Amino acid sequence: METICSLDIQYSKAISTLLASPSPQALQGYFDQLLAKRQCSGIKIRQSNDVGKGVYAEANYMEGDLVLKDQMLVGTQHVSNKVDALVCSYCFRYIGSIELQIGRKLYLQGLGKGEGEEFELGTSKHIQKEGCLAESLHLRENHSVMAGHSDSDSASSSKSEDNAYLPLPKEVIESLINGELVLPYSKEFVLPSVISCVGGCAEEHYCSKSCAEADWESCHSLLCMGERSGCRNMEALARFTEHANGTNDIFHLAAKVISSTILKCEKFKAAQFKDNEPYFGPNALGTNLLLEAWRPFSMGYKRRWWDCVALPNDIDCNQEASFRMQMRELAFTSLQLLKDSIFCEDYAPLFSLEIYGNIIGMFELNNLDVVVASPVEDYFIYIDDLLFPKKEEAMEVTQPILKALGDDYSICCQGTGFFPLQSCMNHSCSPNAKAFKRDEDRDGQAIIVAVRDIHTGEEITISYIDEDLPYEERQAALADYGFKCTCPKCLEESKHCSSLEK
Ligand SMILES: [Zn+2]
Ligand SMILES: [Zn+2]
Ligand SMILES: [Zn+2]
Repeated sequence: METICSLDIQYSKAISTLLASPSPQALQGYFDQLLAKRQCSGIKIRQSNDVGKGVYAEANYMEGDLVLKDQMLVGTQHVSNKVDALVCSYCFRYIGSIELQIGRKLYLQGLGKGEGEEFELGTSKHIQKEGCLAESLHLRENHSVMAGHSDSDSASSSKSEDNAYLPLPKEVIESLINGELVLPYSKEFVLPSVISCVGGCAEEHYCSKSCAEADWESCHSLLCMGERSGCRNMEALARFTEHANGTNDIFHLAAKVISSTILKCEKFKAAQFKDNEPYFGPNALGTNLLLEAWRPFSMGYKRRWWDCVALPNDIDCNQEASFRMQMRELAFTSLQLLKDSIFCEDYAPLFSLEIYGNIIGMFELNNLDVVVASPVEDYFIYIDDLLFPKKEEAMEVTQPILKALGDDYSICCQGTGFFPLQSCMNHSCSPNAKAFKRDEDRDGQAIIVAVRDIHTGEEITISYIDEDLPYEERQAALADYGFKCTCPKCLEESKHCSSLEK
């Protein structure tokens, strides 16, 4: 029942041009330019025949030094994580306030859904004047519960143990969301206010106007569900979103890549018309512009997703072929939904299954987890570190909230992203660097720090896996990335293994 994508056949030439490996000069040019733009002079990307791309030190680093701060090309927060953390859809910074973060999470948990409809932040923030009095009266009635010194309930609440989950009254949750209830010392943890999507959707929120505009221009304007969206078929887009939410976040990223390539190409076209001068030399026709817009993604190592995705442990080897076929079908279904929503004839090759599969495969092979520490966790630690009597006073208010949040109070923002420079770093089981968020790193950038001294000229390596696993397990884990590791540690241990066999 193999499905055939007609675009694969019709545009086979354009597709192979898009998927061709860039020439060494093109690759060098792209990365030199990118490093210059980031004002990052301490590293260089070099390409060699045997290991492909690699990142090399152009300066000496000491253990703990920052080696690279890398901005993602595309990224997304995991759908299931959206309940836990309200972050800027573009830079992943936490937004709103400690109160809003907590209230929103409790509200969404109460609805029992981690995805789908987002409730209106805009309206809840400015609570209506008339309702205000009633609201605050309500709040005062419930305040005794909040503060934990209710007289009649105290017997029952003291019975339930410290860790027991206790829901908060709806009114309290509302007052956290609308800003009426201010938690003690939350002023120490000021977050940027919530900026709505330029296109008027309720799904995406931002930390600033500049993030909202950057996201809109780079990819969101075609994928927005708001009234200003450039998407042709909103129902199809809703189906695409639902499908991706229910199957794999990676499809959201693939949609962003396609959307951003189209938007960039449109921009190039507009600039050409305006200047009345060819933008890319005399032969700058459609394909060249498309290639130029596609350039950042042409640099990433790619394979078809269904060919490179790791076989799950519970799938038997003899079921491999049918598993890979299923993955291909899944991608095909997702692509058809995306095509129904934003297809444009000028960019037809981008909607071929071959390109879609390779984009997703690029993520599968290169993506880095995006993690941003939670200010809510910091807040509760801060309260816990206060001294008597401040701590006891504050805890009267915060303790019931902690109980309502349960063990999940400290869940951080989690997502996945493709980072152009970090993804060039090769693996080693005894790496000299690692991805590591320092206290001051509060957004979605990838941070690479040295784990030991690195000298000029040395290759900078990170570990893709848990490098403390035994040799065989490491090799098995790395097989999912499509290579056999020959780092010094593996060479040493493989010698040891083979001598044991004898
Ligand atoms: Zn932002
Ligand atoms: Zn939007
Ligand atoms: Zn190794």
